[in-house]
Formats: sequence, C-alpha cells, structure tokens
Amino acid sequence: MGPTLDTLRELQQIELQIVDIRSQLAAHERRVQAQNAKRQAALEALEKERAELTRVQIDLDELDLDLKSRTASADRLREHLNAVKTNKEYAAVLSQLNTEKSDATRVESQALQKLEGIDIKKALVAECLQAEQKAEQLLENAKTQLEQTRASFAERLEGLDRQRATVAAKLEPGTATLFDRLSERYEGEVVAKILRTHPRRDEFICEGCNMGLTAEIASALLTRDDVKTCKNCGRILFIEKGT
Ligand SMILES: [Zn+2]
Repeated sequence: MGPTLDTLRELQQIELQIVDIRSQLAAHERRVQAQNAKRQAALEALEKERAELTRVQIDLDELDLDLKSRTASADRLREHLNAVKTNKEYAAVLSQLNTEKSDATRVESQALQKLEGIDIKKALVAECLQAEQKAEQLLENAKTQLEQTRASFAERLEGLDRQRATVAAKLEPGTATLFDRLSERYEGEVVAKILRTHPRRDEFICEGCNMGLTAEIASALLTRDDVKTCKNCGRILFIEKGT
C-alpha cells in the first residue's frame, strides 16, 4: 500500500457516488422514454379511431343523399301515377314506384345500421381520447420527476466531478486512464481487495471476481505501492495490512 493505491481507493469512493447518481438519472430517463412510447401508441390509436369514424360518417352521408333522391323520385312517380291515361302506363309507373320504394327501404335500413355503428365508434374515440390524455399526463409527470431529480443532484454532482478531477490529477496519466477504462467496464468498481481464504495458509482471492491470486502478488502489494491488476477480471488490486 502507498499513496497511489490510497489515491485510487479515494477516487473509487467518489466514482461510486457519481455512478450511483448517474444510474438514478438514467432510470428516470428510461421512464420518460417508456412513457413517451406509450403516449405515442395512444395517439396513434386515437387517430386510427378518428379516421374510422370519419369514414363511417361519410358512408352515412352518402346513404342519406341516396335516400333523399329515391324519396323525391317516388314522390314524382306518385304524382305521375295520378296523371296517366292508360292502364298499361299505370302498371309501368306503379312497378317503377314499387321498385323505388323497396330500394328506399333497403337504403334506410342500411343507414340505420350505420347510425348504430357511429355511436359505437364515437364511444371508442372518446375512450381513446381519454387514454391519450392520461398517457400525456403520465409523460409530463415523468418529465417533471426527471427535471426535479436532475436539479436536486446538480450541485452534488458538480462537486463530485470537481473532487474527482482533483484526486485523479494526483495519478500518473496511464493509471488515470486505466481507472477510467475499468470504471466504465465495472460501473465504478475499479479497485478490488485481496482476501485471504484460509487463516493459516497463503491462499488469496480477488474480491472483485473471487478468482485465486498468487501469494507473490499479495506480499508484493503489502510492501509496495504498485499498480497490479487481477489477471482474471483486470481490476486494480490492493491489500490491507494484517491480511
Ligand atoms: Zn479479479
């Protein structure tokens, strides 16, 4: 043990606090993203239902128009019937009138069916609108929570970043780079303690990965301030006096 290993352990303590804050922020960011996706899906569902309602309304308008023209035509035929001169003409007009009347009845029943469909569609649109508004509210809540968390951590994070820079500056550049690389890989858990696995035997493991270490490394680190890494996990090793 010595100044370098002490500095590395100090740096790790700061690093772990930074990692913890960042992971809390990342969790909030993920929540915002997930809620945003849900809101998008709700919006798409609403648009789809609205488009279908419009389509049914257009169909209904067409049926209404058709019905009006058939009713008008039947009225004209009825008037014509009163003015016909021959039996043959009467029969022909009457047959036309009957056809028009039965067509009008068919169109009317189609229109009624569509009308029932419209009520169902309208209820669906209202439901989708409600779901979309709720999803938007939840998204806003998640965004607010993220902003609040960011604000509440901002000062501490700034302080930790400054502290980290000051402590890291005490290290050799190569060691600082190694620390950064390992921190990224192990989320701040860069330094691993050497543990003795048997009270009377020189058997040691790395606390980071539980793999065995040679007695030479353990004894070297007891007396020297060397940066040595675990051959298995790559973490920087240290040993406490009396291990
Ligand atoms: Zn290891």
